[in-house]
Amino acid sequence: MINWPIHANWNGPIVMIGFGSIGRGTLPLILRHIKCDPRRITVIDPDESKSTLVEKQGASFINEGLSRKNYRQLLKPLLTAGPGRAFIVNLSVDVDSLAIMRLARETGALYIDTVIEPWPGFYYNTNLPQGERTNYAMREHMLALKRELGPGPTAVSCCGANPGMVSWFVKKALMDIARDTGVKVSEPRSREDWAKLMKRLGVKGVHIAERDTQRGKKPKPFGTFVNTWSVEGFISEGLQPAELGWGTHEKKLPALGRRHRTGCGAAIYLERPGADTRVRTWTPTEGPHFGFLVTHNEAISIADYFTVRDGRKVVYRPTCHYAYHPSNDAVLSWQELLGAGGRRQKESYVIDEADIADGRDELGVLLYGHKKNAYWYGSQLSIEEARKLAPYQSATGLQVTSAVLTGMIWAIENPDCGIVETDEMDYRRCLEIQTPYLGPVRGIYTGWTPLDSIVELFAPDLDRRDPWQFQNILVR
Ligand code: NAD
Repeated sequence: MINWPIHANWNGPIVMIGFGSIGRGTLPLILRHIKCDPRRITVIDPDESKSTLVEKQGASFINEGLSRKNYRQLLKPLLTAGPGRAFIVNLSVDVDSLAIMRLARETGALYIDTVIEPWPGFYYNTNLPQGERTNYAMREHMLALKRELGPGPTAVSCCGANPGMVSWFVKKALMDIARDTGVKVSEPRSREDWAKLMKRLGVKGVHIAERDTQRGKKPKPFGTFVNTWSVEGFISEGLQPAELGWGTHEKKLPALGRRHRTGCGAAIYLERPGADTRVRTWTPTEGPHFGFLVTHNEAISIADYFTVRDGRKVVYRPTCHYAYHPSNDAVLSWQELLGAGGRRQKESYVIDEADIADGRDELGVLLYGHKKNAYWYGSQLSIEEARKLAPYQSATGLQVTSAVLTGMIWAIENPDCGIVETDEMDYRRCLEIQTPYLGPVRGIYTGWTPLDSIVELFAPDLDRRDPWQFQNILVR
């Protein structure tokens, strides 16, 4: 039996929006680590079948979907019920994060989510120019709201595994590389100093390198989209344009690569779906493999956070992107969906902890281009360990839910920070809370470069002088 610590007290209402694969794993962690009254927790979800598991744990269930029209009316009474301020935990799809953040501010509530989610209609809007269907555009709206609202109750934006936990891994990895390459540094205290450290270490870029090897007990049926987390969430992000933080060392914009005219300028996008764009990457167990360049908020926020400027001129920025090999069944599911011109399969399901036969989710950050070539730092959580550590979730789920829990505790400890991204949080404190849920957490150096993954029979247009050019990473 593990003696789990109570990290925080909360005497106000907790309102959870969405009770899918992430919500159902998060609730028991909240009850385990945050001293609160389960009767003051309300879960809102349009899927009635979720009520049993909610009520079994002593919380209340409201069977509704939030919409533009009803969200204020439904949420306001819950948020102002008192005593104590409320905490909103938004783990839904199709509920606009910024609208809920604004309402949180109006009512003095704390807030957390795992992605910047829009109201329905955004992801598949063919009238929107590609550049406006990006996470860059959504993050710019969030940054505008952050500036508009200013200081106030804490609202943590994008605090799952990735985006989220991986931003804490990047800082830990930088301190490790400094130590291992003999660079004497005291821990940076400001964004500027973190960026200068990354520059000084010679890091050219970061892959969020994830290989999910979890396999279902039954083979994937034809015509069914199978995933280890939200099918809805994965399809919507996979059909956004591929996107990446664009480093200052890059020599050549990729074909179909586009820059943004406004905003922070940290990222570019490709006019093709992320789930149909492959990159060469590396994780410890599998070694070299292909990942999907699916757009993610952290690709942009990390590149932005570690930007060094001289006046207004950008003098350093890392390239940063997701390199995701989802479960084999999810890869096959994309093959079917994209092969059918983007038409969704009739059926879909999330393989949960009971359906999974074996495997693990190896999720980390690969920092490359420095003196020791490349360093992967991350979690190698297996399904067997996940089952032992917490109920109702796969390895993928636990990496996300433990980050949500961590973000909530950090927000309770730091309640007046306004809107924050995970890059801005105290990575040591966050990893201290989260690491017990991550299985083996390891840092591993590798001599691998993208040039090692080239099929030499077909290798035109490579940059042999700098293996870490994105030109070599992108599979064309
Ligand atoms: P899921 O599809 O399993 O569950 C989503 C839940 O939201 C469902 O129960 C659904 O009924 C509910 N929902 C749908 N419309 C709603 C509405 N209008 N109002 C309230 N609830 C509504 O998804 P999931 O795997 O639990 O993921 C939840 C969110 O977390 C998604 O946005 C996903 O992209 C995100 N996510 C982030 C990370 C990360 O690491 N940052 C990882 C996994 C998932």
